[in-house]
This record gives sequence, structure tokens and C-alpha cells, in this order.
Amino acid sequence: MEQENKHQKKSNKAGKTYQGSCFCGAVQLKVTGDPVAMGYCHCDSCRSWSAGPVNAFTLWNPEAVEVTRGADNIGTFNKTPNSYRKWCKTCGGHLFTEHPTMGLTDVYAATIPDFPYQPAIHVNYQETRLHIRDGLPKMKDVPKEMGGSGVSLPD
Ligand SMILES: [Zn+2]
Ligand SMILES: [Zn+2]
Repeated sequence: MEQENKHQKKSNKAGKTYQGSCFCGAVQLKVTGDPVAMGYCHCDSCRSWSAGPVNAFTLWNPEAVEVTRGADNIGTFNKTPNSYRKWCKTCGGHLFTEHPTMGLTDVYAATIPDFPYQPAIHVNYQETRLHIRDGLPKMKDVPKEMGGSGVSLPD
């Protein structure tokens, strides 16, 4: 990518591709283009499943996400019909979550390290265990357009 000049970078932006993988590399994927939204989720489910205090998410149209290796090595668990969580059966590393009811796929920011992650929002902040005072909007649950209350909370 270093060799590209500025003009090429601009014209290629819509189709730009970023590689991702699980912890061990058995599963590889790529995302293409731009995500629909990026931010941090503070919900109990993300915390419990990831064993981390927050989930850094990037939401994509499902067509933008392609598993390029190890598709048969992906495990799935859905506690609810809203979230199908995916991980590598070899290393247990988390990959992404399909949200069929939203029509979007959350590829965890950590799964695609070269992607220029630019969080714009915190969601489900009423469930937070780790306050992040970065000045970004803090939604009590999720924005109205995603079926939430649209209520904001302080940092
Ligand atoms: Zn793996
Ligand atoms: Zn969550």
C-alpha cells in the first residue's frame, strides 16, 4: 500500500480490503469497503462472551465480509436470535458476530488490526463497567434508528 500514490488511494477507497484472522491464523477473512458504523459496546452479553470490559465493534453489510480460509473451522453460538457469535474452533479466538435481525455483521476491531478503526459512539452504556471519558456520545442502549431509546448518558 505504501507504493500507491494519493490519487490511486482515493479512487480505490470504495473497494479497499482489509485482512483479518483469528488468534492462531486458521481462520482468515477480509472486509471490503466501509463499515456502516463503528464504536464500543458495553453490554453484559459482549462482556460475558468476550471476557473483556467492552467490545470494539465495526458493523458491516454481510456482503462486505468474506471468510477466505478455514470456514469449516468456525464455531457458532446464539443465545438469542439477534446475535450469532463466531470463533475459531482451534484457538478459541473470536472472529465476528452476525446480527440477522439488524442485517449487519460485527467484525471485532481486534480481528482486523490494519483497519483504521474510528469509533464514533458508545452503545449500551447503562451496562458499563468501564467508563471511557473520551467525549464520544454515550447511548443508554442504542440509537433510535437501531430500535433503541436514543437516550444519551453522561461520560
Ligand atoms: Zn484460530
Ligand atoms: Zn454488546
